[in-house]
Amino acid sequence: MGAVEGNREPGGGAGGHPPWHLRATVLPSGLHTDLWVASGRISSTPVLGATSLPAGGFVFSGLVDAHVHPGVTGIGEPLDEARLREDLTALARAGTTLVRVPGSPSRLPAWVRTEPGLPRVLSAGVPITAPGRFFPGWGRPHEPGDVPGAAAEESAAADGWAKLIADWFDEDGVYTPSFSPPVLAEAVRRVHAAGGRVAAHTQHADSGRDAVAAGVDSVEHGMHLPFEALGPMAGQGTALVPTAVTFAAMEPAMTGGDVPEPVARWYREGWARHPELVRRAHGAGVTVLAGTDLPVGSLPDEIRWLHRAGLPLEDALGAASWTARAWLGLPGLAEGAPADLVVLAEDPRLTPDALADPLVVMVGGRLVAPAP
Ligand SMILES: [Zn+2]
Repeated sequence: MGAVEGNREPGGGAGGHPPWHLRATVLPSGLHTDLWVASGRISSTPVLGATSLPAGGFVFSGLVDAHVHPGVTGIGEPLDEARLREDLTALARAGTTLVRVPGSPSRLPAWVRTEPGLPRVLSAGVPITAPGRFFPGWGRPHEPGDVPGAAAEESAAADGWAKLIADWFDEDGVYTPSFSPPVLAEAVRRVHAAGGRVAAHTQHADSGRDAVAAGVDSVEHGMHLPFEALGPMAGQGTALVPTAVTFAAMEPAMTGGDVPEPVARWYREGWARHPELVRRAHGAGVTVLAGTDLPVGSLPDEIRWLHRAGLPLEDALGAASWTARAWLGLPGLAEGAPADLVVLAEDPRLTPDALADPLVVMVGGRLVAPAP
């Protein structure tokens, strides 16, 4: 937990920040209660001299984008630090208090973990790929024997996550697995032994199944993932991050006129079964999480898609908030927890529209919105 929390300076009682007080309905519990923020942490006991935050109806620990790539200006382009700051600032103002970045063109600079006004960031460093099996210029290619060690090294250098690009287009333009099952299994074993977790990009049935059998912690995209993998995923706690809004946006380009028919069919058929995959995953007890991928997207849109796919709205909301937060290892609005919170006027359990224009956003007890 220390590593997860350690990326934010405490506010609200430290460094000249006053303690705060608010009274609202806490989500997901639904309890109407008073909360205080002191020394960057949540307190349920009154704190003298606390300043009241704008009155709101509902408070929760903020949105979580479990799969997003801030700082990217184009496919294959180097990390752009100005864009990174802009993206993270916009995310925080929209009420996103935590992001997992499953791969960047290069490792994220240290300032993303210390600069006020940004969400907490959990990065997977640079994705590990097979040679020639990812966007040119992106990813760190390794021969099979070097993949497990590279994954462990990347997770240790980042925030405890490694990202494996488990399948991609081959030299003939056919979408196939990039790593053998033993390589995947050894990579997961090495990262876990180092205390890290593994996110696997999969869009092919075989590598999806192999990644789950290897014990990865999350399946990213999961297009074509066999339904038979869902039981084992639920059993071992592997999450599914379907990144649906990005798939929807890419559909015209991936299935249009000049796309080779086998590629168009692969995409069309995978996308067509994606809602059923997500509905079955949720039904099987798999943790389904919201991620907007590339470019940085709208979590409310992803919540709406998850709901249309079959998740109850409250669960779709949890996928973009408290469920993701707990799965990533951070507490919600509990006594002593870091004060990451978002105050809303309306109940987001009734409509994701309520997530627009939060009244208050705070990360680690520091006010992000309204502007301090
Ligand atoms: Zn991605």
